[in-house]
Amino acid sequence: MTDAPAPGRSPSLDPNRPLQYEKGVGPQRAERLAKIGLRTARDMLLHVPRRYEDRTRLATIRELVPGEEATIRARVIRVRTGKPHRGPVIVRAILEDDTDCCDAVWFNQKYLADILREGSEIVITGKPKLYRDKLQISPTEYEIISGPDSTSATEDTEGTEGEDYSVLSVTSVAGRVAPGCPADLAAGRIVPYYPLTEGVSQRLMRGLAYGIAMTTADSQGEIIPEKLRASRRLMGIGEAFREIHFPSSTEKRDEARRRLVYEELFVLQTGMALVRARSMMDIGRVFEVTDEIDRRIRARFPFQLTNAQDRAVKEIARDIGSGQPMNRLLQGDVGSGKTAVAVYAMLAVVARGAQAAVMAPTELLAAQHARTIGRYLEGSRVNLATLKGGQDSTERTEALADVASGGAQIVVGTHALLEETVRFKDLGLVLIDEQHKFGVMQRSVLREKGSRPHVLVMTATPIPRTLAMAYFGDLDLSVIDELPPGRGGVATEVVAEKKRADVYRRVKAAVKEGRQAYVVCPRVAGGETESFDLEFGPQKEVRAATETRDRLARGPLKGLELGLLHGRMSPEEKAEVMDAFLAGRLQALVCTVVIEVGIDVPNATVLVVEHADRFGLAQLHQLRGRIARGEQEGACFLIADPKTEGAVERLGALEQTSDGFKISEADFRIRGPGEFFGARQSGLPELRFADILTDTEILKEAREDAFRLVNDEPALSQGALAPLKRRVAEVFAGRLELGAVG
Ligand code: ADP
Ligand code: MG
Repeated sequence: MTDAPAPGRSPSLDPNRPLQYEKGVGPQRAERLAKIGLRTARDMLLHVPRRYEDRTRLATIRELVPGEEATIRARVIRVRTGKPHRGPVIVRAILEDDTDCCDAVWFNQKYLADILREGSEIVITGKPKLYRDKLQISPTEYEIISGPDSTSATEDTEGTEGEDYSVLSVTSVAGRVAPGCPADLAAGRIVPYYPLTEGVSQRLMRGLAYGIAMTTADSQGEIIPEKLRASRRLMGIGEAFREIHFPSSTEKRDEARRRLVYEELFVLQTGMALVRARSMMDIGRVFEVTDEIDRRIRARFPFQLTNAQDRAVKEIARDIGSGQPMNRLLQGDVGSGKTAVAVYAMLAVVARGAQAAVMAPTELLAAQHARTIGRYLEGSRVNLATLKGGQDSTERTEALADVASGGAQIVVGTHALLEETVRFKDLGLVLIDEQHKFGVMQRSVLREKGSRPHVLVMTATPIPRTLAMAYFGDLDLSVIDELPPGRGGVATEVVAEKKRADVYRRVKAAVKEGRQAYVVCPRVAGGETESFDLEFGPQKEVRAATETRDRLARGPLKGLELGLLHGRMSPEEKAEVMDAFLAGRLQALVCTVVIEVGIDVPNATVLVVEHADRFGLAQLHQLRGRIARGEQEGACFLIADPKTEGAVERLGALEQTSDGFKISEADFRIRGPGEFFGARQSGLPELRFADILTDTEILKEAREDAFRLVNDEPALSQGALAPLKRRVAEVFAGRLELGAVG
């Protein structure tokens, strides 16, 4: 399971020692601990409390005042169990300390009678009240901290997931906890509460953490350079671990947390800084955007760029003319006009005789890009080639030849672009749409196909600035935070299932006025969607797209031309349906989330989402973006009977705001970074201590420090930086293009 202790090191200090041999653990509990990833002492060190209780001050029984919450420590004098007729089981204990005695009463917890032994010491918290002239407490918290008999050990089997009263069952371990461990880790101090697992009590976990924090906290080693530690006033790593587990004061605990969060973010940002430094070591192709080129490109657009687009375009022009490679993230809400900015960038490169490639996450989106870009190019001498899966071989051979000869200056495709057979004559710009659906790795594969091409990543999931900093920290950021003028906006309404008929009447009315509609369903009959992370309920509850289409055709939308689009269809079938919808031959399109990204049909102004509670927040926002593309006001109906409070809240958020940044922040909060970015694909380590949305100040400091450090010491080669270098290599192992490290 784990390595043997390192030679020459005291085994008790080895952070890799298995937990099994810690006091009070043994093989069975070791197995249970392993279930939540706790195998070694180091795992336990990193397993920090999820909350604390300040029990620094204990009251004596004499000090108790009815109605005022207090914590006392007392001995159990007597335990009685009673069961009044038809009432709950009552366990009553008489407690005493050196000052007085009182009663503690528990309802419906019969098992307590077996565990609360006379002579045990107990800590309880609660509001005392007077009952028949005696002080009585119904504890909100309690913890047995020592038993009268420390030898009668029994393995406890209580289910204790996430609860605090589990300590009861460990009375048996009393006296067997780590040597030097105060008997009362549960009182007279700020008491830590750990995430638990079945069969492991809070008390055991706490004892274990104590033993390990006291013997092993320093084993992690200091990775933050002395100078930074001093300037940021960070406590030493050993102290930080001791204080996070067993705080000597709340201030110390907060400082300890700040230190651990800083360290985590500092390592992350050092990795980013190294990736960035490496990409900056290359010399960038210089594509100077002259006034003449700028004017010619802008003339291609049937509109004036918005201020936000204008800013982005200038940032890009500066990058590609600077002599350093561009590594830029272009983010903007759906419909903010990223494509136009992308086209500007491509044409700027093409104007200088090089090629540009666009990689999209789906074929549908690639086709959409090809169409949109094609429109902007009409009447120009710029040629466009498309590369995607499922092309017939002559088509493909032709496209490949165009790409290789430079006959096609702009190449649009899916990940098919990454295949080895794809060779460019002179790839100067790589544009990646929807970054987080590709990985950082794929980004580099595409980059290798050119000679140091510039890279522009586009994402329609607006990411709060700090998030972008944390997760795309190796990229510069351009934000399009303004929608083109003359947008009608979208009115969003959550509609109960039983009002569904009203919604489809509204759809019919809109179609009568010449508009088109989308009806989005969670899943294709019997199959999987091509989407990622929806949670589906029982099949019978899902109104599959196919069934929905048939049902609508028979009933509510009878007489309309209905199309069907889902991920199981072939690319040709999909393209055919989209063409028909775009041309207006279909009046409503029943589909799965294949339309989520990028589809642009300005005449479609109505969106109905069936079972909206099954979709993620950001996803619904993306869907809604499909109907906010023209001057007409859009109408979005989210049909759902949300069952959980969370679902009500999520859907309500959509009714209230159309600000993509706010929505994705909420989504990030609900789903966490792993789900939000797609853990495997984001290519970045999960954060254990930091909360990216609230630890923004620490993130900024860590980022500033890491980038400055890497700037001064690009290879981290100084001896004193070796521990940091090792940690970065370890944390990013195989995840980033960190050739520069380790
Ligand atoms: P995104 O890719 O960010 O979702 P698009 O680039 O597809 O947005 O633009 C959405 C719509 O807005 C398109 O129909 C496009 O023609 C239009 N558009 C883009 N920029 C402008 C602008 N500056 N003024 C008016 N319309 C614009
Ligand atoms: Mg777009």
